[in-house]
Amino acid sequence: MSLRVPFGLRESTLYEPNGVPNGKACGCICPSCKRPLVAKQRASTPHFAHAPGEDCAKGFETAVHLAAKQIIAERKEVRLPAVEYRSTLQYAPSKVHTAETLLCLDEVELEVWMGSIRPDIWVRAGDERYLVEIAVTHFVDEVKTSKIREMRIPALEIDLQSFKDNFTFAALEKLLFNAPYTAKWIFNQHIEDMAAEAMQIYELTEHAQEDMFHIGMAEAMQLHELAKQSEEKLAELARPNNAIARKNEESPTAKAEGERSQKFHRYRVLPPTEKLERNIHELGISHAQMKKFSAFIPWGDSFGVPQDVWQSAVLVYIAKNEQRGYLSYEVQFQECLAWMRRAFNVHAPVPDGDSVATWKYLKHLESLGILKYLWNKKFALKIKSRNWPQMFPPTA
Ligand SMILES: [Zn+2]
Repeated sequence: MSLRVPFGLRESTLYEPNGVPNGKACGCICPSCKRPLVAKQRASTPHFAHAPGEDCAKGFETAVHLAAKQIIAERKEVRLPAVEYRSTLQYAPSKVHTAETLLCLDEVELEVWMGSIRPDIWVRAGDERYLVEIAVTHFVDEVKTSKIREMRIPALEIDLQSFKDNFTFAALEKLLFNAPYTAKWIFNQHIEDMAAEAMQIYELTEHAQEDMFHIGMAEAMQLHELAKQSEEKLAELARPNNAIARKNEESPTAKAEGERSQKFHRYRVLPPTEKLERNIHELGISHAQMKKFSAFIPWGDSFGVPQDVWQSAVLVYIAKNEQRGYLSYEVQFQECLAWMRRAFNVHAPVPDGDSVATWKYLKHLESLGILKYLWNKKFALKIKSRNWPQMFPPTA
């Protein structure tokens, strides 16, 4: 603790060491203990000192306090630190409400009691009131902080610890008004609001992340279960005692495939408008609604029909796939493409143009929320076909 006193008091005015005669002739007393001081102008840092042997713990602190208050009161100005929230939370950004500002004051009061606290300075600018604490060696403690927070009056603390090598009013004024500002808010409602908002963002995002994780897990488990089932089915079919049964099934299978082939042929030869009519009827949507599901897709002309015609066919494929039951939630790109190639006379302007177009349209359906990409060119069906008509209601 420095026993040097930066400013001396004479007839209730503060003086700096070089502002009065040197030595005992200075006529100043200690602002804290009120005993006579000696001006030491020839010291490397001019200062005031108590008489030898005298002990005064608070002389330094009290003098800086008083001087800072005097400067603020005389200038009728105070610098307000930037009102900002520095986020330490994931997902929640830092924010600045107002930059550092110089506030012109209408009223300055020193050390008046406000309820159960006595702030160093109380200032008013128009309707705004602020508490200003000056910290030299002692900072605002927890008790005072919580009292200030309860009062909900904006309060700041100016840190003057760096005032130690040049005991002049000019040096102190520089710290208060010109040097990088070592001050912080003890309470500011805007910062509280920004912190609360950040917390909300953090919690919402955290929950969303958790939900995503659980959805991801559920899908993975469902797939695992289905993969196991299909393996079992394959194993069952591979068993030798089923070979005869399989052979007997061959003809009905071949018959079914023949019927399927005919169906595709009948569809393929229809004019585009008729194809579209059938598709939207199948989907239970209007022409206008179909427009909402369609998009311009590069190489879409590979199918030799307008975009909404072949795209409605992709939707029909997904709907039929869903009705099939087994693995109904899964949409396989290759299967869909094979189906499209049977339903249309493909004349791709570039190699695999139909493949690129089908893939891009499935990705477009993902952007609409209908599909979600899983892996290995497979998508999960997120919105069932019976709910598609509600996605774009006819009135909209
Ligand atoms: Zn003293």
